[in-house]
Amino acid sequence: MKLVYFDYCAFSILIVLIVTMLLRKMTRGYSNQIFIFLMAVFSVAVTMDIWAVTLDNMGAGNLLYKYISHTLYLITRYCTTPVYIVYLISLTDNWHRIHVERTILILGFPLMFVVFLLLGNAFTKFMFYFDGKDAYTRGTGFILLYVLSAFYLLYGLIYLLRYRKLYRKRQWISVLLIFPLSVIAVVVQFFIPKALLEMFSSVICLMFITAMVQRPEDTVDTDTGLRKSSAYGEDMHRCFQTGKPAEVIEVNIVNYDSLRDMLGYDGIHSLIAKVAHTLEEIDRLCQTRADLYHLGDGAFRLVVNRRHFDHTLDCANLINSELKQRIRLGQTEANLSVCVCVTRCPNEIADMDSLMVFEHDINASAYTGDVLYASELYRKDYYDVMKDIDRIIERALSSHRFAVYYQPIYSVNEKKFRSAEALLRLNDEKYGFISPEIFIPAAEKSGAIHRIGRYVLEEVCAFISSSIYKELQLEYIEINLSVAQCMEKNLFRDVLDILHRYQVQPEQINLEVTETAAAISQNTMMNNLKKLTEAGIQFSLDDFGTGYSNMHRIASLPLQIVKLDKSFAVTEGNPKMRIVLENTIRMIKAMHMKIVVEGIETETLVKQFSALECEYIQGYYYSRPLPRDEFIRFLQEYPAAG
Ligand code: C2E
Ligand code: MG
Ligand code: MG
Repeated sequence: MKLVYFDYCAFSILIVLIVTMLLRKMTRGYSNQIFIFLMAVFSVAVTMDIWAVTLDNMGAGNLLYKYISHTLYLITRYCTTPVYIVYLISLTDNWHRIHVERTILILGFPLMFVVFLLLGNAFTKFMFYFDGKDAYTRGTGFILLYVLSAFYLLYGLIYLLRYRKLYRKRQWISVLLIFPLSVIAVVVQFFIPKALLEMFSSVICLMFITAMVQRPEDTVDTDTGLRKSSAYGEDMHRCFQTGKPAEVIEVNIVNYDSLRDMLGYDGIHSLIAKVAHTLEEIDRLCQTRADLYHLGDGAFRLVVNRRHFDHTLDCANLINSELKQRIRLGQTEANLSVCVCVTRCPNEIADMDSLMVFEHDINASAYTGDVLYASELYRKDYYDVMKDIDRIIERALSSHRFAVYYQPIYSVNEKKFRSAEALLRLNDEKYGFISPEIFIPAAEKSGAIHRIGRYVLEEVCAFISSSIYKELQLEYIEINLSVAQCMEKNLFRDVLDILHRYQVQPEQINLEVTETAAAISQNTMMNNLKKLTEAGIQFSLDDFGTGYSNMHRIASLPLQIVKLDKSFAVTEGNPKMRIVLENTIRMIKAMHMKIVVEGIETETLVKQFSALECEYIQGYYYSRPLPRDEFIRFLQEYPAAG
């Protein structure tokens, strides 16, 4: 008498597992589909086992049914292992790396062989037969089933060990568990044939996998039903790890913040759900069969597999045109500004860090309304540098790869150079010259700006206190201060210390702050400005005209010079800009501040701004920023040349 109760339990568990998978909508994606298929095969196998064992327990007779049920049981039972291995592979999304035809052959051939033997078994009695009392008895060939099972188990184990890194730790342990448990169950069942543990133990493992691996809460965004941000990170990371080609369609709602403010909590949720639904529809229509992700804050991603690359561009264009139409939400209507970009991985972007930085920057690129292409936007050097910038800055600080250059500033009234701006240069051993527009913001984020700032100030002070400097007859050197520096508590003390150490007078330097810094009315910043002004240091307002100047605020700050940004130098053919320029200059002068015009490259502009009575001119027309020695030579030779 065999104990059929284990199989009853296994069957009940399987039904519960299948129903919960379906109810949790875990039906998208290959690995989910294969897992459901695996449970279906298990269900058939368990059913056949129950039928066969029940017939066996009934004693003699029913020979035909016994043959059918045992044959079907063994066939389905031996199907489960190769299907499980396919599931293991699908979890790693590694099909492009393994030889698919060869894998199918390795997994399929032994199975076909077993099926062939089992189908012919009624005549050969090679695998099993029924004795004189119609009792089920194993044949000489039965051992083959164990050998083949062992082969499959070994194959699965080797795969799991080889690609261990492609699984999350929890995943890996869960899928591995089935191997030792199956072996234990087979051994127990071998010695105690009436305890039908094989199926039961496998189903327990499936239950474990359902709880630990097939977890929608790990991957599915509840608002949209799409996969969520962490899943996108993991999936793309795995793509880069395995070199799997993928095309990503980035869809960002550019005006998300204002839409959220306008629509409120419920409104923005239904808008996002609607956009998600539209993307699913378009994906279906274009047959891209992409994995869809919602990253939050109005950002969506579609990741297309190689087989469907032909449809990517159609899909991106359709998304771009569909999402631009007004979207109705109950009583209100929303107008979306969407930015759609296509990125080919790994051809255009080959690692996760670059992808993150690139995707972060997409919204900042000029909004054209057309689909963007990473091939046009992505400047590899720039992203390589950005990825590495902290290390580059550290390296530059420790191995002296920073240098301070000087750009002369011409005094229109005195007709000679009376000051200069100190501009930092970074010449990295790997990437060459890197623009301060890149490394200064990065240094602000990492905090390295304070050390960099001190370095620039010391270099400038060392220059000012040198004997050659006196011969140059410069009044002062302008030094840029970044926002982060202005907000540092000890800034004024640091600056005054350095001046003191190099015996430099406060009026020999001039600190440039940007409009952004000037707009911050924070205590520390105000205190720094006050203390430094009291000590006799003068301030310039840099890049005037690039930000949203709060004139009231600027008027209240102790500024002596305003530096008109380069953009003011292009007023030709634009009479309105000309009016803005003339009035801006008049206003600054009325506030008793002096003007430096930046970015002057032509003689015409020199004349134009001189006529407007701007006191100082700085730009390539006179000279680019020069290393200290060249700058000295330039100033010494200029009168002769000019
Ligand atoms: P900025 O302070 O506005 O400096 C002027 C920028 O305009 C410099 O760029 C200069 O090389 C460039 N420039 C000068 N004349 C012309 C011209 O005729 N035509 C054009 N097209 N450009 C001209 P650079 O050196 O690349 O510096 C960029 C920015 O980086 C600076 O803008 C400043 O904000 C920041 N920066 C540079 N050095 C330092 C530093 O030591 N500390 C801090 N905090 N920021 C710095
Ligand atoms: Mg400046
Ligand atoms: Mg400037």
